Amino acid sequence: MQSQNFVLKFQKELCETCPTYDCLTRCQYLNIDTKTAEREIRKLLNGEDSFVLHECVTCYACEEYCKRGNHPFYLITDLQEKKGILPAPKPIVKQWVNLGIPDKKDIPHFYGAEEPVISLCLFPDFVNSIRGKLFQGVSIVLGRHFFCNLVYLHFGKPSLIRERLPKIIENIASHGFKEVVFFHDECYSTFTSYADAYEIKVPFRPVHLFEYLYNRLKELKDEIKPLNVRIAYQRNCSTRLTPQKEHYLDKIFELLGVERVERKYDRENALCCGGIIRGLQKLDLFVEVQKKNVEDMKNAKAEYCVFNCPACYSSLAERVRKEGIKPIMLHQLCKLALREEPR
Ligand code: SF4
Ligand code: SF4
Ligand code: SF4
Repeated sequence: MQSQNFVLKFQKELCETCPTYDCLTRCQYLNIDTKTAEREIRKLLNGEDSFVLHECVTCYACEEYCKRGNHPFYLITDLQEKKGILPAPKPIVKQWVNLGIPDKKDIPHFYGAEEPVISLCLFPDFVNSIRGKLFQGVSIVLGRHFFCNLVYLHFGKPSLIRERLPKIIENIASHGFKEVVFFHDECYSTFTSYADAYEIKVPFRPVHLFEYLYNRLKELKDEIKPLNVRIAYQRNCSTRLTPQKEHYLDKIFELLGVERVERKYDRENALCCGGIIRGLQKLDLFVEVQKKNVEDMKNAKAEYCVFNCPACYSSLAERVRKEGIKPIMLHQLCKLALREEPR
């Protein structure tokens, strides 16, 4: 399939007059001062090579650090691909490229699925948890025909996203949904931030799981039994693309009666779960990042570590458990407060 010519909306002049270069100076993985940032940004704007293209760990955070509405991370990924710079070894990239191709087990159309509908992406293991009061009357769609493909931002292959996305959007839209709730943050961020940055039309309203959970918890308010526990939140990479929905999270925590502990690596200062850093084979950094993150949770006396991304859960759950912190997905924390899951 030929990639349609979707071009990144990027305003060079915003960078040329930037007072901060926050996108690079705030990067937690590359040690960059303002002078270096200015020099490297100019190279990127001119389409030239820069050490940033080779050393970026693809944490997505510079998209959030840029407060001028530009897309530094999308620019980095487009340049990596143009120059054939692979952030991970070739066999790993190849494996991932094939992962998104539908096979016989994937269902292209869920007949009878109706709103409210949740897209579960490639996480069939969670089908049984999308039950109970919190998800009453909800239909599920999932599989590779609905897979957002955003993961290729980690592997220097962003054109694959743009090549596959129109068909994925068509598959979802063919059901006639006006709104779709996305279980995986990456999917939500694809259909909002990424699609908008490349002017790809999305004919339905993407709804973040946070928004869905918040509204549903408000309806069930009288049935919530406050949990009274201290939690650390593990923010995942794609939330950096859509920080505008983060406010729902604190409102959810308030409804559940949990305290989000004050710690160093939360909110804009969050650290990657480490999963992708391991995937890129930067193993020393992977160990260091997980250690810093988990010690921070421990020092803040968190009892639970709450995840939004199932892949982050896989990469960090065992590690936090070893430190006596219970790992839990956000929707399962909500079910705990509704006493639908044992504590
Ligand atoms: S991407 Fe944003 S933060 Fe970075 S130089 Fe450009 S305007 Fe400044
Ligand atoms: S994606 Fe992360 S690691 Fe890469 S330049 Fe941006 S902030 Fe740094
Ligand atoms: S595990 Fe989650 S946060 Fe970590 S790289 Fe994958 S999608 Fe991003």
